[in-house]
Amino acid sequence: MAELRFSALREVFNREPVEVTTPSKIVSEYYGENVFDLPKMEHYLSKEAYKVVKRAINEGKSLNRQEADQVATGLKAWAIGKGATHYTHWFHPLTDGTAEKHDGFIEFGDNGRVVENFSGEVLVQSEPDASSFPSGGIRNTFEARGYTAWDVSSPVFIVGTTLCIPTIFVSYTGEALDYKAPLLKALSELDRAAVDVCQYFDKDVNKVIATLGCEQEYFLIDEALYYARPDLVLAEKTMMGHQSSKDQQLSDHYFGSITERVMCFMEDFECESYKLGIPVKTRHNEVAPNQFECAPIFEEVNLAVDHNQLLMDIMKRVARKHKFRVLFHEKPFAGINGSGKHNNWSMATNTGVNLLSPGKNPKTNLQFLTFLVNVIKAVNDSNEVLRASVMNESNSYRLGGHEAPPAIISIFLGTYLINMLENIARKVTDKKMTPAQKTELKLGIGKIPEILLDNTDRNRTSPFAFTGNRFEFRAVGSSANCSTSMIVLNAAVSYQLTQFKKDVDLIIKKGRNKDEAIFQVLKKYILESERVLFEGDNYSKEWHQEARKRGLCNIASVPESISRYLTKQSREVLIGTGIFTEKELESRVEVEYEKFTKKVQIEARVLGDLAINHIIPTAITYMTSLIENVKGLKEVFNDIEFERLAGARKEMIVTISDHISMIKKLVNEMIEERRKANVIEGTYKKALAYESNVKPYLEEIRTHIDKLELIVDNEIWPLPKYRELLFTR
Ligand code: ADP
Ligand code: MG
Repeated sequence: MAELRFSALREVFNREPVEVTTPSKIVSEYYGENVFDLPKMEHYLSKEAYKVVKRAINEGKSLNRQEADQVATGLKAWAIGKGATHYTHWFHPLTDGTAEKHDGFIEFGDNGRVVENFSGEVLVQSEPDASSFPSGGIRNTFEARGYTAWDVSSPVFIVGTTLCIPTIFVSYTGEALDYKAPLLKALSELDRAAVDVCQYFDKDVNKVIATLGCEQEYFLIDEALYYARPDLVLAEKTMMGHQSSKDQQLSDHYFGSITERVMCFMEDFECESYKLGIPVKTRHNEVAPNQFECAPIFEEVNLAVDHNQLLMDIMKRVARKHKFRVLFHEKPFAGINGSGKHNNWSMATNTGVNLLSPGKNPKTNLQFLTFLVNVIKAVNDSNEVLRASVMNESNSYRLGGHEAPPAIISIFLGTYLINMLENIARKVTDKKMTPAQKTELKLGIGKIPEILLDNTDRNRTSPFAFTGNRFEFRAVGSSANCSTSMIVLNAAVSYQLTQFKKDVDLIIKKGRNKDEAIFQVLKKYILESERVLFEGDNYSKEWHQEARKRGLCNIASVPESISRYLTKQSREVLIGTGIFTEKELESRVEVEYEKFTKKVQIEARVLGDLAINHIIPTAITYMTSLIENVKGLKEVFNDIEFERLAGARKEMIVTISDHISMIKKLVNEMIEERRKANVIEGTYKKALAYESNVKPYLEEIRTHIDKLELIVDNEIWPLPKYRELLFTR
């Protein structure tokens, strides 16, 4: 049985790096060559069509039929010139990946000959069968149709021979069935609300975009070893495996030099990313062995999300070429670091100002503080729904681990800003401020340094940290579509900014001047949000106790966490702002419960199968050989000698036998619990049953298996061990 494991290891020992050829050594020479970006539009479209598309992009509008036809003609010419034969509407259904159905350009012409055709109609809209995508009950089985519609703000691109058109995906009755449609709504809400607030400070601001740079962590595993681990293939994580004697204790992998084979993979996927206009910039080894990170330069959120989804696709594809598999799972190996996707997020104006960057004078700094405090207040008030947005089955193994942010959402600011906010809270009173008081406050604010010292030595344990000119939402899982967290964050902040505008205007109406009104509202928000600010070690036990005292909740249960999408506050933020309808939000939550249940179910099945038909037979084989050995000793030695010699072996036989019995018993119990859970009506209750009655078995069963791994003869152990998965490449 161990044959597969050893032949895999032999294969890995003989691997050579796969050489990479890039179109040019100079990235800027081919960057974006497979993207229909503005310069290409200018070249391929009529002047009029180009103007229309540009306006549509800027204003977030869609094109009419005639305009679309004009664009389609130019687009087709470009795509066919690049060797494209097919086109697809590329969208983000509520699964973990992206979806595409390819159609050829070919059609029969008048004379029966085949011609290439691509009309405006198929560019802007398509009707894929939606019946097999998760909808959480929105889509009736008799109305299987869904619509995809072009998202003009994200450029069209070519992968292989297929022209990919980024689209939103909605049901026949208009409800969103994807992540992009609500994301676009949340971003446009944020734009509106932030522009309104910017007007207090700068009348020239007429557009605010949210920006996102996501640091993507991942593991690389050799393909041969991957195939020798059915758990990796089916559940994307190891369901068993004893910790390697050495893994990350010495921190010698972090920022370590990158081996040639891995470097070739990185260069290759970076090259493919550049062709698609994805600005990947940073690469390094991460803390765990065989773990890495890459990060692009930040972009507008919608584009950054598309690029991250695309990047994950590219990485998976390119990895195959290099005989690797890339793992985006949040916790593929127990006992060592998992992978996250740190979402660096900020807001920028059309006037070129980063709203979360300290400015140079009291006015710009008051604007900075205004946005900073509003984000803090939003995170405080929408604490639960923010957690819900990052919580899912796979990330639950990571959040609250000893190296990852806990399931308590708090904010790290750094001492300088903490003191600044305390100062405001102390100095601002309800009474009318004297000119001297105002000057003093403003002077203090004017002095905020552009580079905040304690943010260079930042707190790495915080799930939501201010890092000098942006927030870093670190609780997001590595396999996630960033839309889920970005929808909620941008919705919460836009909701908050709208409230801020109302609060300030109310005080202005009462006769106070603008700055004073702003100060008063900020003070109120600071006091109301104090509980969410935490500068200490988020991994510590003390913080868990302290957080409870502060009324910050720590929900480790995935279904319970997801259920907080439906609290009063979440509904106000997500439905009140028009980002979701009641039905859309409820159906999304249904989808999440179902996903959770199915994933635990798959893991339980994989573990059960492997335990029964890989591990137990191996353990029995080894046990039998021990029994034979003991029998042999009995034949050869007299009774006294035998007792002395056979003692240790007999103990081993008993230990192995006990583990086997426990594994068998626990697997049976787990199957029984699944059976019971499966007949429960209602997705929430079923998910809860899976969480509390099935999931705990996964840990229990693996403990026995991992103990066996330490005892059983290495020569017959069937699955590649942690030391092999993590150190062989
Ligand atoms: P770290 O030191 O946190 O690992 P990295 O350089 O790996 O930093 O990643 C930081 C990310 O933050 C990059 O993607 C970067 O482009 C992004 N970033 C920088 N400024 C902003 C901003 N204003 N808005 C959004 N993201 C930003
Ligand atoms: Mg980084």
